[in-house]
Amino acid sequence: MSVLLRIFSVAILTLIGVGCANNGEKRPTTRPTGGLERFEYVQVHMGTRARLVAYAKDEETAVEACSAAYRRVAELEQICTDYRKSSELMQLCARAGGPPVRVSDELFYVIQKAVEKSRNTNGAFDITVGPYVALWREARKTGKMPRQEEIEKARALVGYEKIILDPTNQTVRLTVPGMKLDLGAIAKGYAGDCALAVLRTYGINSALFEAGGNIVVSDAPPGSYGWVIEVVNDRPSSKSKKIVVKNAGVSTSGDTEQHVEIEGKRYSHIIDPKTGIGLTNRNYVTIVAKDGITSDGLSTAACVLGPEGMKFVLPKYPGTKAYFAPQIE
Ligand code: ADP
Ligand code: MG
Repeated sequence: MSVLLRIFSVAILTLIGVGCANNGEKRPTTRPTGGLERFEYVQVHMGTRARLVAYAKDEETAVEACSAAYRRVAELEQICTDYRKSSELMQLCARAGGPPVRVSDELFYVIQKAVEKSRNTNGAFDITVGPYVALWREARKTGKMPRQEEIEKARALVGYEKIILDPTNQTVRLTVPGMKLDLGAIAKGYAGDCALAVLRTYGINSALFEAGGNIVVSDAPPGSYGWVIEVVNDRPSSKSKKIVVKNAGVSTSGDTEQHVEIEGKRYSHIIDPKTGIGLTNRNYVTIVAKDGITSDGLSTAACVLGPEGMKFVLPKYPGTKAYFAPQIE
């Protein structure tokens, strides 16, 4: 059973603090709000807290709209998760090595966007890393490095060029049996885009979605220039930065939350598809882009590529910005 929780306080996140333009306090009367009120809800989706902030004319509208937005997020999770055998994604993977498979509009869109990101990042972003991810999930449990033979075996199943897309028939063909796609680096951002699109159909145009380091916002909160988001860069000595955004995706990736330490080395849950090894470069980055699917995908790629590598990627996504934390020596 899903329950809508109304949150009355302003949540400050560990990685990114976020608030509306007036930091959640009572809005000064000089600022016109157009009769809109701020509502905030949290539900658990995609293994994390998914937060919605919405400016609506009344509570009834907010509850109805946010419930519909959460239902959409749940629907997408059921399509995209690699944690359930029954998901459309896992059903597709079960048919790897076989003929093309016709998939839903959503799954086709996400896979197409993912492959585009692979091409634009020279393979730093790659949803075919599923077999590597499985090895590193195990490593996080056992505290032991995956064996070289296991990495080699997985390598035969990894590589975005092994995905063949046919937009006319909306089919996906996974060319090698055993391939496993992982949408964990892109699905939350996309879910945010979809949640905000649902809210618009209810007339809610100023809203924010946040889940697992991904924030997506629509129009500015009433009477403000945009959503004020604090980019906290995870290095104890350095200062955070406030940015003001609207109609954008803001995603942060790094190894702060998920990693395994083996013989004094920290291996991230983000993997370099070229080597099959969890990143040890300690990159931590926030990407601001036109939408959530772009910022989510690119923040993962940016961790693999680092600031130098991203210089060649950013021009392919006009208006996109990358904020890297200072390097750990
Ligand atoms: P978060 O865990 O906050 O969603 P990311 O958006 O960076 O962080 O996604 C990381 C997840 O994406 C990993 O847990 C894994 O499932 C998958 N992944 C790991 N490396 C890559 C990669 N190079 N390209 C695409 N997906 C990846
Ligand atoms: Mg990501």
